[in-house]
Amino acid sequence: MPELPEVEVTRRGVAPHLEDRIVEDVILRREGLRWPFPPKLRELLAGRRILGTGRRGKYLLIKFEHGTLIVHLGMSGHLRVLPEGTELKKHDHFDLVVSGGNAGPGSRQVLRLHDPRRFGAVLWHAHDDGELEQHVLLRELGVEPLEDGFSGALLHKATRNRSAPIKQVLLAGDIVVGVGNIYACESLFRAGINPKTAAGKISRARYDKLAEAIRDILAAAIVQGGSTLRDFIAVNGQSGYFQQTYFVYDRAGVPCRNCSAPVRQIKQGQRSTFYCATCQR
Ligand SMILES: [Zn+2]
Repeated sequence: MPELPEVEVTRRGVAPHLEDRIVEDVILRREGLRWPFPPKLRELLAGRRILGTGRRGKYLLIKFEHGTLIVHLGMSGHLRVLPEGTELKKHDHFDLVVSGGNAGPGSRQVLRLHDPRRFGAVLWHAHDDGELEQHVLLRELGVEPLEDGFSGALLHKATRNRSAPIKQVLLAGDIVVGVGNIYACESLFRAGINPKTAAGKISRARYDKLAEAIRDILAAAIVQGGSTLRDFIAVNGQSGYFQQTYFVYDRAGVPCRNCSAPVRQIKQGQRSTFYCATCQR
């Protein structure tokens, strides 16, 4: 599943091909994905200039003067920028055809959403509907882990009344967004915190370590993903998602890279957790 780093790498990859371009066409090849596509999306966007891009959690934002297109990659989706006329593949559901910018006024490119499992989304939020941050999908989201405001102090303060295990509190996304299963496992390992520890029992000093681990691991994943950026715009490129070297994630029974004890796997709220019982207390 695309996680925050993949979405941010996608954003960085497509941004130069979208910013300041004019929408020439919108092509929808089905009624919708996880939710129906917005009605009259073509009429809403054709002829409009894209002001820029953004990201909130795992939602990619394409900003216009009159509103924001909200794109989610779901479980298995990806976005690519392709020359217009590029042959369609199965599961290519949505095209945003754009022109102009550095590529010259006549050149047209396509931002194409490919989503085999159709858990993705393309939604529209008009400026007239109020603040984007108050959109029903965005308003419950916690702070961005790579922005100012995320810290051990915040984690500590926000968890004083939380008796749930720290791993599940991270995944819930209401305190901090974008720490999915992989990054929660890896961050807790880096910080030396047992994933079963009640969130409310963890000290400020340990949360400082955890916040630093989360920031460092997500930032490293984005840097690593950046090296595969080329794939996002290649006609026949790979999907663009990237494998990192993990310390505990998906390494059940394999010796811990730090102490050689076998990495353990447990279930927490239907999700697999990987950890080292020696290194994580
Ligand atoms: Zn270990």
